[in-house]
Amino acid sequence: MRAEIVSIGTEITSGQSLDTNSRWLSQELAALGVTTAFHTTISDDLADHVLAIRAATDRASLVITSGGLGPTQDDLVREALALVADVPLEEDAESLAAIIALFARRSRPMPERNRTQALLPRGAGALANRVGTAPGVWMRIGQSTLAALPGVPSEMKVMFHEQVVPRLREAGFVKGATAFQKINLFGKGESDIEALALDLTARGRDPEVGITASEATISFRIAATRATEAEAKAAILPTAELIRERFGELILGDGDVDVAQALVTALDRASATIATAESCTGGLISAMLTAIPGVSRFFLGGVTSYSNEAKSSLLGVPRDLIEAHGAVSPEVAAAMAVGARDRFDADLAISSTGVAGPGGGSPQKPVGLVYLGLATRAGLVETRKLELGPEQPRDVIQKRGAKHALNWARLALATT
Ligand code: ATP
Repeated sequence: MRAEIVSIGTEITSGQSLDTNSRWLSQELAALGVTTAFHTTISDDLADHVLAIRAATDRASLVITSGGLGPTQDDLVREALALVADVPLEEDAESLAAIIALFARRSRPMPERNRTQALLPRGAGALANRVGTAPGVWMRIGQSTLAALPGVPSEMKVMFHEQVVPRLREAGFVKGATAFQKINLFGKGESDIEALALDLTARGRDPEVGITASEATISFRIAATRATEAEAKAAILPTAELIRERFGELILGDGDVDVAQALVTALDRASATIATAESCTGGLISAMLTAIPGVSRFFLGGVTSYSNEAKSSLLGVPRDLIEAHGAVSPEVAAAMAVGARDRFDADLAISSTGVAGPGGGSPQKPVGLVYLGLATRAGLVETRKLELGPEQPRDVIQKRGAKHALNWARLALATT
């Protein structure tokens, strides 16, 4: 049993708007245990509607469309459904009464063209729209069940929950519930992590485990389908536990937790404060930290010391140290961290200095070379060398550098 989602609208195919409806619908269907096999997007063209709906109803047992139910000439779904099913369009008295009543509630006369929204292919049922004018359509085409929903996301969501889900249950599509859990990791590449998890990501494993990467954060996504939601959630737990045991300190947290949030949690646990001294990351480390609500209890402040002069005057990095080793050096990274820790009187400070590119690299100091520094109140001073380039674009080097710095501070708090 596979579903296909058809998104309708030239504003989507032309790239003006992003199709978020398909994503939402796929996730909702997955939570009901229905797998989506195809996403199709079509423009406001009748022939394309017919082609796409015909193909979808040929290959999927459930088809859900979104958009194209409005009253204007480019809203063609009803007409296309009638053509594919080879039936006439007929006015549905109940839908028309609902549309008239909606306009009456808004104290406006119903424009004549809205009448078309009450048309249904013969044999189809209307899906009531509690929040907008266009009713949806529920019908069978060949071996397939089809629901046509409005494009406006708020209308589509209400109609899906209130009108479609009960019908899916009744029609036997909903066999159970699927629960998901995402666990995020940082500090190793996707292939290294996958190599350590081949037993988990093997096809056919239950619960299923997928692996994704976004800006160097790796995520395991665990999914289990069971008869009830509670059983599905319970089925996920042993796999989540296994991942936590196996990957230990690489783990940042669940759901949306990324490096900055994980560091803030570690700061909270240790009741520690932090300060930053940034060169090549240009304030990104402090921006990522300050994006976390409530961070003011832990983050004291940062210095974006981009020039050598600023490194000396604001952080006290000795000028001869910069001259002797260059601004991109472990010595300067260490001195920056010590300077920030000192000036902000923080428990911990982290620093960055590197070559973000695309220019400015040399054989000794190529693009992507970043030194991080870390200094603690107890007098520990350490540096770390990252080689993030040289083929990576500037923003990737900066973002990864910042994430490595945040992650290192998290790990340092765990061990000190
Ligand atoms: P209406 O009755 O309001 O005209 P409709 O079913 O005709 O609804 P569309 O005209 O296709 O819907 O889309 C209305 C608006 O809904 C679009 O301008 C867009 O903002 C949003 N929308 C449509 N489809 C999508 C989609 N796939 N993802 C996100 N937003 C969408």
